[in-house]
Amino acid sequence: MDALPAQRHRIGGAWISGGTEWLDVINPATEERLTAVPAGTAEDAGRAVAAARRAFGPWSGVPLRTRVEAVRAIAKGLSARGEEIAATITAEAGVPAAFARQVQAALPVATSSGAAAVAEEFAWTERIGRSTVLREPVGVVAAITPWNFPLHQSVAKVVPALLAGNTVVLKPSEIAPSTATILAEVVDDAGVPDGVLNVVHGTGPVVGEALVSHEDVDMVSFTGSTAAGRRVAALAAATVKRVSLELGGKSANLVLQDADLDAAVRAGVANCFMNSGQMCWAWTRMLVPAALHDRAVEAAAAEAASFIVGDPTAAGTRIGPLASAAGRDRVRACIRRGIDDGARLAAGGPTPPPGLDRGYYVRPTVFGGVRPDAVIAQEEIFGPVLSVIPYASEDEAVEIANSTRYGLGGAVFSGDPEHAMAVAARLRTGQVDINGAAFNHLAPFGGYRQSGNGRELGRFGLEEFCETKSVQHPESA
Ligand code: NAD
Repeated sequence: MDALPAQRHRIGGAWISGGTEWLDVINPATEERLTAVPAGTAEDAGRAVAAARRAFGPWSGVPLRTRVEAVRAIAKGLSARGEEIAATITAEAGVPAAFARQVQAALPVATSSGAAAVAEEFAWTERIGRSTVLREPVGVVAAITPWNFPLHQSVAKVVPALLAGNTVVLKPSEIAPSTATILAEVVDDAGVPDGVLNVVHGTGPVVGEALVSHEDVDMVSFTGSTAAGRRVAALAAATVKRVSLELGGKSANLVLQDADLDAAVRAGVANCFMNSGQMCWAWTRMLVPAALHDRAVEAAAAEAASFIVGDPTAAGTRIGPLASAAGRDRVRACIRRGIDDGARLAAGGPTPPPGLDRGYYVRPTVFGGVRPDAVIAQEEIFGPVLSVIPYASEDEAVEIANSTRYGLGGAVFSGDPEHAMAVAARLRTGQVDINGAAFNHLAPFGGYRQSGNGRELGRFGLEEFCETKSVQHPESA
């Protein structure tokens, strides 16, 4: 008997098991099977697109008030099922229970109610001289999401898409698919008509690519790795569909000379290891003045050693297993690469944490003396691995921060707010947090460069899912 319910596609209001092929969903803490999802096919994707197309006319025509009310009901429904959502994410992705509850389950409730309020205030029409500018839905949206914040990523696409009057085919990650089913049930309970949200399970190369290539999909909103994003953009080009990409990152935390070093290191390590280090905007590079480097590495190593690694369901656990065996193997290989390339291993390492031979665990790892051009300082590792990099001057720090192909997040620590702001403005990234400031779910979230080109959340997230039409009036109108 599986621990989680069997998953099915949701197409045009029907729950469908699909064919005979199934993909196992594994608990990364125990390596046991939790459930399975149907391995969707291109035909399943096509059926879902057809259902979304049929639903588009009616849904885009309902009054905004009705869509806003539906989203408020979705927020309520997600809130009511918060405990189940958190437990599901812990089981499937190994996310420590407290973080799953406080962030992974709570954030989608906040973003949906926030988006409903934003939609009420949004400039759906505006006047520019003789023209009326209309914001209209794009059409049928394919939403493709990863496993690290599985419900948050899905809600950040589905909710604004629905508010703008689009219909959606969601393809969740095959590693953590079950919250997509919960979302589809909640959307159904909220009275959203059949076919407005469809869910097709399966792999990226099969279902994902079928959606991206489909003639009748108007837009792809994709969150995942830069490698897969590149493939998505290339395939979508054939039909010139709109593509919004939220991809990987290698964010820098600039600890300036005038910062409170201990506070900056503590906050920096906590951010880098959040969600067991599987966070796209994690501050995985800590840049410190060369004279403070050794002190910073020592403090970061001590901090890392204080993180409890283990069973994600246990109270007090701060780092659970990584979500997949492939992820664990990749992260351990990156740690070995860092050692081979001459970085100083100050905490952790490539061997399993003591007593944790079962489950996809890695040791929280800190490297000191990392060269800015080293592989571990350039490539996204997607695990709890911090690289401390010394810099000689502030100009050099900014240059190092901007020296990867990514541009997702960043941080600045300084005792002087104006100084921090001036440095934040020089970072080529989509967001910068000053002195550990909290995440704002209404502020635009997205990347520069190869971290992507989309913006999610709040007003900017709603705009992503709108077409813009201008209607010209004669002078006299
Ligand atoms: P992934 O790229 O392997 O998969 C993401 C999704 O894309 C999954 O649903 C997968 O099935 C699908 N997919 C894979 N190949 C595809 C293809 N060729 N065509 C269409 N779909 C395809 O990423 P992941 O391992 O699930 O997630 C981790 C990555 O996501 C990291 O790189 C992380 O930085 C990134 N991420 C970015 C953000 C952001 O907002 N920028 C947020 C979370 C995660």
